[in-house]
Amino acid sequence: MPTVQRERLTVVHGDGAWLTTSTGDRLLDGTAGLWHANIGHGRQRLADAARAQMTSLETYHVFGRSANEPALRLADRLAEMVPVAGSKIFLTSGGSDSIEAACKLARLHWQLEGRPQKRIVVSRERAYHGLHAFGTSIGGLTYNRTGYGTSSLVPECARIPTHGLDGAIEVMEQIGCENIAAIITEPVLGTGGVHGPEQGYLEGLEEFARANDILLIIDEVITGFGRTGRMFASERWQLSPDIMTMAKGITSGYAPLGGIAVAPRVADRFFTGKDAPIFRHGLTYSGHATACAVAEANIDVIVDEALVTRAAKLEEVLVSEVGSLRTHPLVREVRAGCGLLAGVELNADADAAAVADLCSESGLMTRVIHGNTLQISPPFVVTEPEIELLAATMRSALDHYS
Ligand code: PLP
Repeated sequence: MPTVQRERLTVVHGDGAWLTTSTGDRLLDGTAGLWHANIGHGRQRLADAARAQMTSLETYHVFGRSANEPALRLADRLAEMVPVAGSKIFLTSGGSDSIEAACKLARLHWQLEGRPQKRIVVSRERAYHGLHAFGTSIGGLTYNRTGYGTSSLVPECARIPTHGLDGAIEVMEQIGCENIAAIITEPVLGTGGVHGPEQGYLEGLEEFARANDILLIIDEVITGFGRTGRMFASERWQLSPDIMTMAKGITSGYAPLGGIAVAPRVADRFFTGKDAPIFRHGLTYSGHATACAVAEANIDVIVDEALVTRAAKLEEVLVSEVGSLRTHPLVREVRAGCGLLAGVELNADADAAAVADLCSESGLMTRVIHGNTLQISPPFVVTEPEIELLAATMRSALDHYS
């Protein structure tokens, strides 16, 4: 579609933080693709894991009494890793699938609790939770909802302000907590423009949720597996989600996979007694064996190479290098300081797409996200000189248009 694709850029090869295009150009991957290539491109170890699994058993579904070994091993490992004590893991095939599972489960939870009126899922303005039916409906980027129904695909979704805890609480009190199933939030709004949380906002949401019998869903699809300098952002902001969603960094994009971690408060009833209820939800590729084997190898790489510590250390470099663009006449705001994540928001009249195009012509892959903002989220293997190069390339592209 010409409106979204001015000129095609086909990527044919990747190694570390670098990409090669079909025309032979080399680009620094300033965004790790769609925030997914956390361990960098071209890892033999993940290819070996995929090959070994696929030549033994490509996959076997996890419906009913069936299972496959990589899915079982990965679920056990995730249960140990996630900041959700005693959790059960439900594997999916990506981020939007994880959102779908989390929201359905939240509604089912209150149905089974005998409080079926608690159905509303509350999300934040400017939030992005993928584009399946629930994700489209709870998303806070209005243009993603347009044309698919009068207000949203899935009824009973509501939004609270992105910033300002008092305003958020006011909206929820107007809705009535007796009608709210869950609050869902990204720890750092990603596609909405890279907005870190205001001091006390996330903690305040959690406190409000606890006090009012509302489930807290933390969407760690972008932040999970190290992006904010902790294995999970919930650890950075000391959150205890009832349900946590994951995808992207779970395999660093080497295979499509996602999952949710579910706290005992929600999960236990499905495992208790011979008449325990069933969570009637699942996908052919939930717990896909090859994808799970790849996820295991990916987590091994993250741990063995201490990539989360590396991301935490590089935060400072990113803050100082990208932060130096703050004074540029075309720049309205630079948001950094949440690990290897930053957003450079340009003035409303600046053409961010043109700046991004010029960056890619000059060897830096970036992209425009909500609010005339350029996304910066390099793979964790990026080096300090590469971050300096990233900022310098962006600066010359901005200079060109100022
Ligand atoms: N949640 C968040 C926070 C995301 O950023 C995304 C994708 O960018 C999703 C969910 C949806 O993930 P997927 O595109 O894998 O379906």
